[in-house]
Amino acid sequence: MKEEVKNQVLRLKAEHGITPGLAVVIVGDDPASRVYVNNKKKACELVGFKSEEYALPEQTTQEDLLNLVKELNNKQDINGILVQLPLPKHLDDKAVIEAINPLKDVDAFHAVNVGKIMLGEYDFLPCTPAGVMEMLHAYDIPVCGKNCVVIGRSNIVGKPMAMLLLHENATVTICHSRTKNLSEVCSKADILVAAVGKPKFVTEDMVKDGAVVIDVGMDRDENGRLCGDVDFENVKQKCSYITPVPGGVGPMTIATLMKNTLKAAKIQNNL
Ligand code: NAP
Repeated sequence: MKEEVKNQVLRLKAEHGITPGLAVVIVGDDPASRVYVNNKKKACELVGFKSEEYALPEQTTQEDLLNLVKELNNKQDINGILVQLPLPKHLDDKAVIEAINPLKDVDAFHAVNVGKIMLGEYDFLPCTPAGVMEMLHAYDIPVCGKNCVVIGRSNIVGKPMAMLLLHENATVTICHSRTKNLSEVCSKADILVAAVGKPKFVTEDMVKDGAVVIDVGMDRDENGRLCGDVDFENVKQKCSYITPVPGGVGPMTIATLMKNTLKAAKIQNNL
């Protein structure tokens, strides 16, 4: 995906003199957020985007953050704006997302973009669920008519993930912390997507033989090592496909962000 974006950027530069630009805003010094932001910057370099980082101190006020977003909305050379979540507790992330111009909202978190996704008429898809769909397509894993179970109902992952699977004619079940008989529900899934945020939460008894298991989780195990929501070593014996953590959904999320930023640049330049 990154190669494809890179080639399109070369063409955009040569034919129209346009270099897509992504602004990443990070507030505070959360180490995980810092890693994600660095990875996004590296990806921008690789595909030939202009990237700008705005690293603001933890004590940044809502007003200052909103002013920065407004400034970026008006910058011609910035096509995508990404505010790294979570924000420190005193800031209202909903208000910040709503302040982003929907055409520059390359995370697709703005209410306008969320609404468009519900209607199936979108400019951008949220990066993590869209990256998962790309993976399913790349491995020719059929979705139509399959029983898909998504564990997690966040606005960022669970809900849009369910919607994208539904758009491709899956029968979708969304599970959450109040779901009864979670193991039983999960064990009926042809495709199981875990977006819970709890290390090794999905165990082999929750997985049907031959199922496809997508692990969105980015957690820390008992030794502080990065791991997913799925007990990979045990579950992998049972399923037909499984995504590793690290090296699965994470890089796909970033590749999709690059794709969205390229699309934003094209839309904003009427191409
Ligand atoms: P989140 O907002 O905390 O949502 C977690 C969801 O899991 C909630 O809907 C919650 O249910 C549900 N849940 C919690 N405990 C449960 C239980 N015991 N049984 C069933 N469901 C339960 O998290 P998120 O933002 O969606 O992220 C989920 C994970 O994905 C995290 O590890 C995050 O780091 C990772 N992530 C990875 C990427 C990537 O690029 N790979 C991107 C985004 C997020 P309730 O709604 O009932 O509370």
